[in-house]
Amino acid sequence: MIPFDYHNAQTVKEAAALIDHRSVQAIAGGTTLIDLMKLNVLTPASLVHVRDALPSGVSSDEQTLHIGAATTMAELADAEKGGRAFPVIRQSLILAASPQIRNMATIGGNLLQRTRSPYYRHPDMPIDGHAITNHGEDVDTAMLAVLGNSGRLVGMYPGDFAISAVAFDAQLELSNGETNRRVNAREFYQVPQQKEFQYSTKLKPNEVITGVIFPVSASLKNSYYFKIRDRSSYAFALASAAVGLDIQNGIIRRANVGIGGLGSIPWHSSAAEQALTGQAPTDDVFRAAAQAALASAQPPAGLEYKVTLAQRTLERALQTLRDDGPLDDDALWAMQHGRSDTQPTQRGA
Ligand SMILES: Cc1cc2nc3c(=O)[nH]c(=O)nc-3n(C[C@H](O)[C@H](O)[C@H](O)COP(=O)(O)OP(=O)(O)OC[C@H]3O[C@@H](n4cnc5c(N)ncnc54)[C@H](O)[C@@H]3O)c2cc1C
Repeated sequence: MIPFDYHNAQTVKEAAALIDHRSVQAIAGGTTLIDLMKLNVLTPASLVHVRDALPSGVSSDEQTLHIGAATTMAELADAEKGGRAFPVIRQSLILAASPQIRNMATIGGNLLQRTRSPYYRHPDMPIDGHAITNHGEDVDTAMLAVLGNSGRLVGMYPGDFAISAVAFDAQLELSNGETNRRVNAREFYQVPQQKEFQYSTKLKPNEVITGVIFPVSASLKNSYYFKIRDRSSYAFALASAAVGLDIQNGIIRRANVGIGGLGSIPWHSSAAEQALTGQAPTDDVFRAAAQAALASAQPPAGLEYKVTLAQRTLERALQTLRDDGPLDDDALWAMQHGRSDTQPTQRGA
């Protein structure tokens, strides 16, 4: 790791005055940044610790859920007014990373995690500014994007919580210490432009994320996050779906759909939402919605299976939510550990 300066900011203004997100980077939990610095993929000259400067904690009323950017993944997942009230939020956090990482990692840092593609995580591989035109058989391609890739080889956005944020229309609060603004999560992430390997954001050089706001809705309360991964202890999503349904008198009045594990950015599917809204919640309707969600997929060679996998993941998520409703903690534990037989007494074993 290359030596760097370190500054512990006490206010957002102090932090924002220093940070440019290139040579001077924010550090919160450090669980992404330090990894990438050890790999010499990111080589900032200075780090500004932002955790003491940023708002922390979770609050909600009938209209909104507010999350401070310094809140850890674990705190949000367990908060009575946060993850405990809104299943998709709890599940997209608990099914991510490991308990140790969730205790360190902040929501602000979580939203800005980088692609896990080996093309990005190796200093000798082409990174931002260099398009990849082909890939060898010895490189794990599962972390390449299938949606939002313009037919190119670009990195997949790997996170889980951001899939819930885009599906449920969350706003990100950004601040430079003097001016605050809000950007919808669906607009915050920008698909890679020509020659870029991974997403960019609307964050300005002297801004930090200070919070996340979810509008509270019936579909956020009746929600589900379903994640398919290589191993159930912890792994990034091969495919995932964040879904919410507001069903009244047998008709879907409102649907929310996000797809994880496939997009170059956290993927919001308005096509799937349109296919669901105003329809009865039947298997045929769910299948049509899943096909609509993946219609624009352009899988690189070898990743064709991800299209089918994502369609089935979305269908299954919708079916489970319709048939069983939001998961309780026992069912969530079983899902987390890849078990259908829920045995809560064995949890501490
Ligand atoms: C082994 C492992 C497994 C993982 N598995 C998963 C998984 O399955 N699902 C998943 O979603 N994630 C997973 N993660 C990623 C993990 O969730 C992130 O590392 C974590 O959320 C990042 O938060 P942090 O506070 O540590 O960020 P940091 O590492 O401190 O920062 C990350 C980036 O965000 C910037 N930043 C941080 N805070 C702010 C802010 N407030 N404003 C502006 N910029 C900011 C930093 O400059 C940096 O570029 C995994 C990580 C590891 C190491």
